[in-house]
Amino acid sequence: MVTIESGLVNDLGARASRVAPAHRYAIITDSNVAALYGEQARASFGLVSVFTIPAGEKYKSRETWARVTDEMLTAGFGRDSAIIAIGGGVVGDLAGFVAATYMRGIPFVQVPTTLLAMIDASIGGKTGVDTPAGKNLVGAFHQPAAVLIDPTVLATLPPRELRAGLAEAIKHGVIADAGYFDRTVEALPGLLAPGGSTSPAMRSLIEGSVAIKESVVARDEREHGLRKILNFGHTLGHAAEASSGYALLHGEAIAIGMAVESRLAERLGLAEAGTADRVRMALALATLPCQVPSSLDPERLVALTKTDKKARRERVEYALPHAIGRMAGGSSDWGIAVDDADALAAARIMAVDPNR
Ligand code: NAD
Repeated sequence: MVTIESGLVNDLGARASRVAPAHRYAIITDSNVAALYGEQARASFGLVSVFTIPAGEKYKSRETWARVTDEMLTAGFGRDSAIIAIGGGVVGDLAGFVAATYMRGIPFVQVPTTLLAMIDASIGGKTGVDTPAGKNLVGAFHQPAAVLIDPTVLATLPPRELRAGLAEAIKHGVIADAGYFDRTVEALPGLLAPGGSTSPAMRSLIEGSVAIKESVVARDEREHGLRKILNFGHTLGHAAEASSGYALLHGEAIAIGMAVESRLAERLGLAEAGTADRVRMALALATLPCQVPSSLDPERLVALTKTDKKARRERVEYALPHAIGRMAGGSSDWGIAVDDADALAAARIMAVDPNR
């Protein structure tokens, strides 16, 4: 159940008691979000404790999961507790995984505060942490009792984080809805202008993306087939994110992944000519990276895809577009096994020429 409503961050306690009734609540948040919204969120609850993790992808780890879990155990949280995750995708994934494993699973509510988390990470029940071997390699499916979105909190989101979120909106258009893709591209300049983050156009974008993600997940919750289309841009994107040492934001890495993977789809004859250019132009309009930066080595990127969850035997599986709004691979459960040589060739074509 997803609710989008301005100001609801001030009323979380009452809403949580309706969607996830519990004796006691644990708010899990990060240091930035705690400073901005922690107090008002806490004030709306009765029996509540706040667990604050440091901000940043590197804290989406087993160590943080163990620390928060131990702190909750020490504080005496029982099975009649519920977790409220307030933050971006890092907090949502980590808090969701704590909820999935705490005493074999307790309810949790997602309160996403980044654009990326509102339109993507908070929906669908994927929780987990990163490991040195790769992203999201340890985790669980655990559906939130509710997703509560307050679009007004985007007013404080740094512009770079806002742009990173737009990458997932562009992805939703490519994988499922050409009309939504066109509307998003048209709205991009206004969304990036001052005041754009809290504009009616941003609300429409959130509603559109949430609807696409919900409908895909509803048809294939456990990613046996259709849900794989949400991984467009993520096979090489996760490799780029890890390879950059997480200097690239998730959305930025996914943007690079989409640019390369749409080129790969054309190279394999799966995508209509022009698809890759349209994806690249949308990314450029969102001022997102749309080439492989010179700091990333295409060979290393392809090598890193081998540790991706989508690796099957010798070949790695990709989600590739057929056209804007339609994915290829329906006859193979939406996963397309690709030879490394093809992936490497596409990554090289899309690499920034260091001599230019
Ligand atoms: P993030 O959680 O690191 O948040 C980005 C930054 O913004 C952080 O510094 C955070 O403190 C700050 N922040 C959050 N809300 C704010 C606000 N309202 N005002 C000011 N600052 C704010 O990053 P993200 O992009 O939200 O999430 C990325 C993570 O999401 C990755 O780990 C990725 O793997 C995961 N993800 C998960 C899924 C899923 O289905 N579970 C889908 C997509 C992405």
